[in-house]
Amino acid sequence: MRLLLVEDDDHVAAALSAVLSRHGFQVVHARSGEDALRALLPTEKPGGKEPFGVVLLDLGLPDQDGYEVCGKIRKRSAIPVIMVTARSDVRSRIHGLNLGADDYVVKPYDTGELLARIHAVARRGTAGEDTGPTPLAALSIGPVRIELPTRKVSVDGQEVQLTRKEFDLLALLAQRPGVVFRREQIISEVWRTSWEGTGRTLEVHVASLRSKLRLPALIETVRGVGYRLVPPPA
Ligand code: CA
Repeated sequence: MRLLLVEDDDHVAAALSAVLSRHGFQVVHARSGEDALRALLPTEKPGGKEPFGVVLLDLGLPDQDGYEVCGKIRKRSAIPVIMVTARSDVRSRIHGLNLGADDYVVKPYDTGELLARIHAVARRGTAGEDTGPTPLAALSIGPVRIELPTRKVSVDGQEVQLTRKEFDLLALLAQRPGVVFRREQIISEVWRTSWEGTGRTLEVHVASLRSKLRLPALIETVRGVGYRLVPPPA
């Protein structure tokens, strides 16, 4: 998969490119917002390069703010964008997600986690095509284990019976722990509708999940925005 790495620090970029290449990515490095936007312009040539599968976007760039770059990318393309930044506050994350970023990773990050997130957003980007990478079989969040093919959920080894939508909601949030999912995003993915008439359906499902899993703090309400999954402390 082709990956656009937007990073002005050559040392960081070189180290990251090496890791990503080892994991099968063809990395193209852009040092500024301008370079990044140029690299994303569609190629006119027939038989041109395959399009990028994901953008890793550093927010601290020399020429323009990374948020601004994200907004510009989003205006012209649905390519998955992961913001990478040292700013860890919730407000920055929400701002990034509202601008259309698909995920938000805070420096210093664990490379394994970054790879998992890249695969997760790339998979969403190719949803509906059967050429995507093999989906993960199971997700583990603290004591919670979510088996995707069999749709079984257990907490500390005890199976928990969930309804279809409860499972879909949990599996969605669990794909990106710590990341805030907007209400409308959850409703469109889990209920496949943008109909506002779903009313308090989402709240009801969240409350039910909290109580069935007996982990009330697992799903955090981000007021005015949506929800995120907070892995319990080990
Ligand atoms: Ca930077």
